[in-house]
Amino acid sequence: MVRENDIRENEVAVDTPEPVDARLTYIGRISTPWTSRLTCPRQERLDGPTCRIEVFEPWTQTLKGIEEFERLEVIYWLDRSRRDLVLQSPGNNGAVLGTFSIRSPVRPNPIGTSNVQLESVDGNVLAVRGLDCLDGTPLLDLKPDRNLFKPIAPPQPGDFETGDAHM
Ligand code: SAM
Repeated sequence: MVRENDIRENEVAVDTPEPVDARLTYIGRISTPWTSRLTCPRQERLDGPTCRIEVFEPWTQTLKGIEEFERLEVIYWLDRSRRDLVLQSPGNNGAVLGTFSIRSPVRPNPIGTSNVQLESVDGNVLAVRGLDCLDGTPLLDLKPDRNLFKPIAPPQPGDFETGDAHM
């Protein structure tokens, strides 16, 4: 059951500390068909509607080579989320779970990620399928799908480390 910003039975909100300025930059804007959380998909699907990702200047050169990847990881800021719930009731039935055991948009740092299908690149605009965010959601980052990406930099020792951590 989707909500706007209401709090449900047994959910717990906390007083949040002043945020640290992580100096995030909104590098673009995502356009989707959804203007309400009540109709937005809860998770992405690769056969979902085509959405548009616009990358702003001065970041457009960051797209060089991206067309080589048919799937991308899109990272975005869920800008219309409350950020203070530590226990949430996704089923709105009194049963609660900790925020970090679910993928709710309501989190201390409301970062969303979706794996999308890249349909086309036209200058600074990408057409993708597989988003689940509201129209106008700010873009934080784009990365090649980790399963398609092979590191280009030379190997280094940590790449081969296995076993117990030194803690
Ligand atoms: N796929 C992402 C993830 O797992 O990190 C996001 C999942 S989250 C459950 C998706 C939901 O977030 C949507 O159904 C909608 O209710 C909500 N949402 C989408 N865009 C939002 C935005 N810009 N601000 C606040 N909530 C948003």
